[in-house]
Amino acid sequence: MTLVDLVLVALVHGRSFRLSSSRVSILDGWEFCPRCRGPLTRGANHARCADCGETLWANPVPGVQALVERDGQVLLARRGIEPRIGLWDFPGGFLDEHEHPLDGLRRELREETGLEIEVGDLLGIWLDPYDGRTILSLTWLATPVGGVERAADDVAELAWFGAAELPPNDQIAFPGQVEALALWRSTRG
Ligand SMILES: [Zn+2]
Repeated sequence: MTLVDLVLVALVHGRSFRLSSSRVSILDGWEFCPRCRGPLTRGANHARCADCGETLWANPVPGVQALVERDGQVLLARRGIEPRIGLWDFPGGFLDEHEHPLDGLRRELREETGLEIEVGDLLGIWLDPYDGRTILSLTWLATPVGGVERAADDVAELAWFGAAELPPNDQIAFPGQVEALALWRSTRG
């Protein structure tokens, strides 16, 4: 399978969906080894340095996010930064190198929303395009259990939406989140 033929597979509640991707790779445009500056040779899913032998793999980047629920409403965070600035996003973010995903989720929620959360079930796992990369988005249900709500960090605004009041799909930041909200709405209709 070449990168061009790459088909992304999202797992949702054990079912698998095939999504056509934007076909970008984290290795697109890489010419030189980041370790020794030697020339890179591209393979189907990797690049290898001819000088030092370093191999760089085109892997998705793990991300964590929460569908935070309270009284039948879901908390969305309007993006204050690129990519997709101004669109409605789930609060969440990227992990530090040695951070457990659930610790990272609680930290990101604290940083972006001011809220302490209780993490519930894993809602699903989606693959979303993000700034030339593919993000493996681990998505949990969560409920707020403390803290003082306030938008901060990468978030411009926070708002709560009922199942019938969600923003239109083209105002949601990532395709996986559109699916996650549809899944949530189907259980809350
Ligand atoms: Zn090298």
